[in-house]
Amino acid sequence: MHDRMHDHRKLGRELDLFDTDPLMGAGLPYWLPDGAAVRHALEEYVRGAERRAGYRHVYSPVLGKRELYEISGHWSHYSDDMFPPMDLGGEQVVLRPSLCPHHALIYRSRAHSYRELPLRMAELGGMYRSELSGVLGGLTRVRSIQLNDAHVFCTPDQAADEARAALELIREAYDALGIRPTRYRLSLPGAGGKYVADPAMWRRAADLLIEVLDASGVPYEAAEGEAAFYGPKIDVQVTDGAGREFTLSTVQIDFHQPEQFDLHYIGPDGAKHRPVMVHRSVIGSVERAVAHLIELHGGAFPAWLAPTQLMVLPISEAEVPQAAALVRRCVEQGLRAELAGPEHGTLGARVRAARLVPYQAVIGAREAADDRVALRLRDGRRLDAMSAAEALARIGAVVAARSGELWAAEVGA
Ligand SMILES: [Zn+2]
Repeated sequence: MHDRMHDHRKLGRELDLFDTDPLMGAGLPYWLPDGAAVRHALEEYVRGAERRAGYRHVYSPVLGKRELYEISGHWSHYSDDMFPPMDLGGEQVVLRPSLCPHHALIYRSRAHSYRELPLRMAELGGMYRSELSGVLGGLTRVRSIQLNDAHVFCTPDQAADEARAALELIREAYDALGIRPTRYRLSLPGAGGKYVADPAMWRRAADLLIEVLDASGVPYEAAEGEAAFYGPKIDVQVTDGAGREFTLSTVQIDFHQPEQFDLHYIGPDGAKHRPVMVHRSVIGSVERAVAHLIELHGGAFPAWLAPTQLMVLPISEAEVPQAAALVRRCVEQGLRAELAGPEHGTLGARVRAARLVPYQAVIGAREAADDRVALRLRDGRRLDAMSAAEALARIGAVVAARSGELWAAEVGA
């Protein structure tokens, strides 16, 4: 049975995270400030993890000429999922169905030596899919997608190691986010004309992925008809609140697009060689990832992801100035804090309204007089009053560590 409490569409509206408007269109959700705060924290996490793993980030436009997708192969293999082209001054431009062609052009724009490889190019960028309106809903089936994407340009010898490192990065991110993979899937081509016809290329790429999966020790199963049109992939499958399985993360080895874009690097022999492209996404689309995190946590996000991390609750009107000053200090320190004053009801009502906020700081006359706060944690714990500086420092430490715990054990106390 589907647990309504863990339906991200219901929670997303109740918690003011995102919504849609018929005038913007189906499958085109917008993000409210609280949802945008969660998304921003997630994106910053991913960018940081990628930087630590040796990726560098780029930005590229969401539009490209039709010709670009003819070269990449999207036009002949993927046009059913693409928006129709727009005529512009005698040219046709297309909302991009993926980021790979742009990244291939960025790679091609400069000469590369084998010494620069593997070259890891990442982008959290927009892409578009012409989903039918019948299957749209919430953040999981959208027409405008923000993809956590990257392409590693490497030598054929480096491809397996890069795919393995990408799987490891996915595992690290899942640990940090509390996401559990349901299973790993080796997605192979199926019958029909959806796939680039080059059996030797498919075999070579699939063998590399099998080598990676076997070495990683994770159990997996092969599935035909689930590959990308240009190559096989490892899909990390996750299950939503309704028990439906979907692909969150992928790792792909691609010999096709480097050929199509005539990419090369100069080898130690001074001659031109063809690089391999490893496509990988750690958290998939930001929309799907946030939808999953909403359902996973039932809206009670870990402190580092929570839209509001600290709710400041003055007991009476008299403590409002101190409470407002505390909120400003939090914001100065990079914490997301809000003030809920007596005009929002009794203290008990305000505590209940903020039940999903990780920390509540109650400020009465005594606390206001000596710059202290009495913290209540979301799990029901009430801490003894402490100095505001100590409270903010300790909350800041939990947030910076992206801990799943609300409060670190006392250090040296
Ligand atoms: Zn790609």
